[in-house]
Amino acid sequence: MFKSYSIEAQFALQAVRKAANLCRQIQAEMVDPAITKADRSPVTVADYACQALIGRMLMMEFPVDQLVAEEDSKTLKDDTDGETLEHVTDYLRRVIPEADNEQVCVWIDHGAQDPGDRFWTCDPIDGTKGFLRGDQYVTALALIEAGKVIVAALGCPNLDRRMQPSMGGEGGAAVAVRGEGSYGFGMESDDHVRLQVSDRIQTHDARLLRSFESGHTHEGRMAALVEALGTTSEPVLMDSQAKYAVMAAGDGELLFRLLSPSQPDYQEKIWDQAAGSLIVEEAGGRVSDLRGEDLDFTQGRTLRKNLGVLASNGRLHDAALEAIRGVGADRRPEKS
Ligand code: AMP
Ligand code: MG
Repeated sequence: MFKSYSIEAQFALQAVRKAANLCRQIQAEMVDPAITKADRSPVTVADYACQALIGRMLMMEFPVDQLVAEEDSKTLKDDTDGETLEHVTDYLRRVIPEADNEQVCVWIDHGAQDPGDRFWTCDPIDGTKGFLRGDQYVTALALIEAGKVIVAALGCPNLDRRMQPSMGGEGGAAVAVRGEGSYGFGMESDDHVRLQVSDRIQTHDARLLRSFESGHTHEGRMAALVEALGTTSEPVLMDSQAKYAVMAAGDGELLFRLLSPSQPDYQEKIWDQAAGSLIVEEAGGRVSDLRGEDLDFTQGRTLRKNLGVLASNGRLHDAALEAIRGVGADRRPEKS
């Protein structure tokens, strides 16, 4: 269906579907799949299993392409009894019968490369806290060329093909190719729908899509923005880039990634923004940083040159930027 990059798009769709399938099995069977990383954030057997799966798929299908992905095998190898790695390998054997511990670490560490002119970026589970809570999470995969996201896929186990929340249903996957639109697929069936952002033009009608984790935003500035925009509808709280898929489908108009006062120097990771941003743009929306600058994917593993993120249905973007300036959210907050 895509005229350009159709092989990459098909690959990305299959990869996120397979990853989603693994996540679901792990979620259904494991009581406690999580361990804690050095930065105190949780990571699960499913994060590693998905990254190993996608790393291996890329090594087979696009052996010269680089991969920049969130996880590495260090925490797994440091884990005292090696039990987590055993679990990861056991799950992978269901899809790759010859998997062993050593190879699994190689596939995971395929994602430790530095971004070059053409590379893939992957968050094996974006929204790990949502995954653990039984809420939204996604597998995100994107192809970047010359600093531009060209192909994007989000595997969304708890959304349907129309990107409507559907806990425990078939699941959905959003796929976009630059210049060719965004589409929603079922997790299994290839029936698809074109994704289109909403046409709301009044700020007071805007529906906000927000992180579930309050530590990922600035509550005071968020309240000031809501006041400045005059929005009255209850914000939708959702983990992960599922928010971008929902916006692409027309069910929300504004998403602000404000800098948290607890981490005022936070730099967005490329795998947290690449796939979601193209899916919103190709559905007719707009994505920039909080100052209106394009997201710059040429700066390594983070969006070092950008400050936060604003995603919108396009029509409300300029009004949102004005509100951001009005409340001072275009500057880094004081540390608290
Ligand atoms: P969300 O589910 O929208 O809250 O976003 C989840 C992502 O936020 C995770 O994948 C983390 O990489 C990222 N994250 C972690 N710390 C922060 C922070 N202080 N500010 C913004 N995002 C963060
Ligand atoms: Mg993430």
